[in-house]
Amino acid sequence: TTVGFVKERKDGESRVALVPETAEKILKLGWQVLFEPDAGEAAGFPNDAYPDMCQMAKKREDVFHAADILVGVDALNEDDLAALKNDAVVVGMVSPYQQQQRFETAAGKNITVFSMELIPRTTRAQAMDVLSSQASVAGYKAVLMAASEAPRFFPMLTTAAGTIRPASVLVIGAGVAGLQAMATARRLGANVTGYDVRPETVEQVKSLGAKFLDLGVEAVGEGGYARALTDEEKQTQQENLAKHLTSVDVLITTAAVPGRPAPRIITTQMVNDMKPGSVIVDLGAEGGGNCEPTEAGVTKLVNNVKVIGPKNLSATVPLHASEMYSRNVWNLLNLMHEEGRFAINWEDDILAGCAVTKAGAVVHPAVTGEQA
Ligand code: NAD
Repeated sequence: TTVGFVKERKDGESRVALVPETAEKILKLGWQVLFEPDAGEAAGFPNDAYPDMCQMAKKREDVFHAADILVGVDALNEDDLAALKNDAVVVGMVSPYQQQQRFETAAGKNITVFSMELIPRTTRAQAMDVLSSQASVAGYKAVLMAASEAPRFFPMLTTAAGTIRPASVLVIGAGVAGLQAMATARRLGANVTGYDVRPETVEQVKSLGAKFLDLGVEAVGEGGYARALTDEEKQTQQENLAKHLTSVDVLITTAAVPGRPAPRIITTQMVNDMKPGSVIVDLGAEGGGNCEPTEAGVTKLVNNVKVIGPKNLSATVPLHASEMYSRNVWNLLNLMHEEGRFAINWEDDILAGCAVTKAGAVVHPAVTGEQA
C-alpha cells in the first residue's frame, strides 16, 4: 500500500498532511510513503527531514498515479482528482458542503473519500478531530494578532513610569477556539471574560481563570452544539452585550453553529460604540462573520476600532498545525488495516461516519442532501 501526499495548492496554505513523525509510523505498518518534492517545506519540514525509507517522486503527477491512499490538507480539488488513479482512497479535509460535483466525479472513478471534517465527534474519535486541533491553533493565533495590533499592553505592568492596567479581553464563543483564545490571553496577563450560549461552558471558562459573562440566553441544540437564536433571544443578547462592550479593549469572536453561516452577534452600531483603539478579531470571518463590518481577509478601521477578519489562521502556525493535523490523519489511517494489510471495516462507526463516497456512490447525508 502506498500513501502519497503533495504540496498544498490553495492560496496561503502552508500546512502539510504528513509530517516526518507520522510518515515513520506508516512505514512501520510495512506501507510505502511517496511525496512530491518540497511538500513539507512551507510547514518547516524539508525533504531530507522525512525518513530515508520515504520516496520522493520526480513530480506531482507521479504521486497521483502511484498512491493507493492520498492524504491532504485541502484534499480534493478537480485537477488532482482527474490525475488520481481509479479505486484510490482520499483522506483529508474536503469541504463537504462545497462543490459537491467533485464527489460525483470521485465516485465515478470508484475513489473512496474520507472527510476529516465529518469524523463523528465521539470520545473515541477525539484523537482524529481536526476541527478541534485546527480550531485550537486559530484561537491561539487570534490572540497574538490582537495583541500585536492593539495599541496597548495585555499584562498589568508596574514600572517607574507608572502602572499600566491590564487589557480587558472578551471572547465570544467558548468552543475549542474560544477556550484556547481565553487561555492564551490569560497567559499574556489580560483580564479575560468569556461568553457562550451553552451553560456547560460556564465552568470551562472559569477553570481558565476567566470571568463568565451571563447575558441571560441559553441555546443548546442537537448533539450538544449551540442552536441558532430566535429573534427575541438575539435582541436580549445584543442589548446586554452592547453595555459590556463599551469597556472592552479586545474582542475575539469564535461563535459558530454547525452547518450554518456564522451567527451575526455584533452590529456596526455596537462596534461604533466601542472605545477608540479597540481591536476585534473575528474568527467567524470565513463563515460570514460574527460582526457586521467583518470582511474575510481584510483589516479595517470602523470608527477607530480595528476589525480583523482572518482567513485560514491555522495555516499561519504551519509547523504545529501540521503536526497535529498529521497525527489526526494517522489515527484515522491506523483504523484502516488488519495486521498491516490495508482493509476498511465498514462496521467501524468512525470510518462509516466520515466516508463521503464508497463503492462508486456518494453516500454521506451531508453531501447527498438527506441531512439538513
Ligand atoms: P463551534 O466551532 O461549532 O462553535 C464555537 C462556539 O460558539 C460554541 O461553543 C458555541 O456554543 C458557540 N456559539 C454558537 N452560537 C453562539 C451565539 N449566538 N452566541 C455565543 N456563542 C455561540 O464549536 P466547537 O468548538 O467545534 O465545539 C463545541 C463543543 O463541542 C466543544 O466545546 C465540546 O464541548 C464539544 N466537542 C466535543 C468533542 C468530542 O467529544 N469529541 C469534540 C469537539 C467538540
